[in-house]
Amino acid sequence: MDKYNSYSGKFLDPKMTRDGNARAHVKLKSLETLWFNTGTLCNLECVNCYIESSPKNDELTYITHEEVLSYLDEIRDQNISVSEIGLTGGEPFMNPDIIKIMGSAMARGFKMLVLTNAMRPMMRHEKALSDLNKKFPGQLALRVSTDHFAKEIHQKERGERSWEPMIKGLKWLGDNGFDVHVAGRTFTHEDDNKLRLGYADLFAKLGIKIDAYNPHALILFPEMGEQEDVVEITTDCWEILNVNPDHMMCSSSRMIVKHRGEDKPAIMACTLLPYDQQFNMGADLTSARRNVSLNHPFCSTFCVLGGASCSN
Ligand code: SF4
Ligand code: SF4
Repeated sequence: MDKYNSYSGKFLDPKMTRDGNARAHVKLKSLETLWFNTGTLCNLECVNCYIESSPKNDELTYITHEEVLSYLDEIRDQNISVSEIGLTGGEPFMNPDIIKIMGSAMARGFKMLVLTNAMRPMMRHEKALSDLNKKFPGQLALRVSTDHFAKEIHQKERGERSWEPMIKGLKWLGDNGFDVHVAGRTFTHEDDNKLRLGYADLFAKLGIKIDAYNPHALILFPEMGEQEDVVEITTDCWEILNVNPDHMMCSSSRMIVKHRGEDKPAIMACTLLPYDQQFNMGADLTSARRNVSLNHPFCSTFCVLGGASCSN
């Protein structure tokens, strides 16, 4: 495992917690969303990027159109029920095959969700994106990362001159009939209502029709900080905390990544853990069905205790 192994003897054994209790696991209920990580390269280098993307980090290399097609073929040939394809990065629009990937997935009838910072890499594809949106009505949604409704706070995380290009992209999407969602964050510790009010104001000023009070249209993500005292989740926790394992992302999704230096893509348990090999579920979708052992601090902080859900 990675650096988190130093958590005072926690997160060492996939079957058992440090205190000797049975570690919680999550069963794949159904594969609703299949994510592809298009590559870790990004035009930004945000302070808290959980995947450590940057203009230089290619730890996850660009996935190719052919590689994506082979998984779409597997879904068809094995009759696997998948309703949505998600694309995440890095910045997906930096992948040279992005438009072909989107077109092929939607041509096969999948709904598509693309996570983007809506900056210049996306705007270079204005025409192709508009064409795809017209060709596949109702299938395409884009989720734009807007870390906070205030420019200064957003830029503190994302860097100087990151606000105006994002606003331009967000407005272009809104003005051109795209199904546009926003991903915000809760790191300022303002309460949910205050945050939603702030975003509602911003959307109204921009004239964009996003309902800031709809948790599907504006998702507010909890933080994935490296806390000292992270609780390990045991099988008893579901009942004690009144949390349903079926609501964890790994019960309804998987993410395909291409690790640098590997010949083939790998299927990871979820979008949050692209590097940790104990969450590598293999190369094909059938083997990737096995249970996921919650042996990582993110399982506690972000999912079970933070209540985050990444998909639609
Ligand atoms: S835009 Fe997203 S992927 Fe890129 S560095 Fe920021 S958080 Fe990471
Ligand atoms: S981080 Fe969340 S989604 Fe990923 S394996 Fe852990 S519980 Fe599942």
